[in-house]
Amino acid sequence: MPTYDYECDACKHTFEMFQTITASHIRKCPECGKLKVKRLIGAGSTVIFKGSGFYQTDYRSEEYKSRQKAEKSSTAEKKDSKAKKKETKKNVKD
Ligand SMILES: [Zn+2]
Repeated sequence: MPTYDYECDACKHTFEMFQTITASHIRKCPECGKLKVKRLIGAGSTVIFKGSGFYQTDYRSEEYKSRQKAEKSSTAEKKDSKAKKKETKKNVKD
């Protein structure tokens, strides 16, 4: 079901409505009761897209950050253990 964003011109209340495409537009503001509600044309999907995009970006960046951290630390650990191994070998050899 598509979600539409509506904004009330009177009180600037914005809300989302799940609606079928054939459903008539909301007119009455649930907040102030005035018939000043307008559909944010095109913005409906855009806002939702933006919203989920934001979350996705946040999520991605967080994930990316943590992944980078993990990679860095694991690489560092690997390097460390390798270096340690080498050192140990060296020490053993020497
Ligand atoms: Zn209103």
